Amino acid sequence: MGMNNRSGRCPKCRSINVKVSQRMCNHSAFNGYHYTRSDYSEIMCLTCGWRWRTKADYVPSLSDMSAADWKRYETMGLRMELWV
Ligand SMILES: [Zn+2]
Repeated sequence: MGMNNRSGRCPKCRSINVKVSQRMCNHSAFNGYHYTRSDYSEIMCLTCGWRWRTKADYVPSLSDMSAADWKRYETMGLRMELWV
């Protein structure tokens, strides 16, 4: 946490290929998928598939997940399940 993650790297694999899946909001299963304003954004790593929520300074500098990114992420998720 803190000073060493200012550039928005994946906390797991240190990749910089990370994008915002939920910007300043929350619509997960925890609240019945209703849109809820939040200080936190959800970030996804397109290298290892890690997801995390943060309100760190680097969030505004990241781009949002595109349709192609989601497709890639879903494919990755399937592969990862097979590896387990
Ligand atoms: Zn990663």
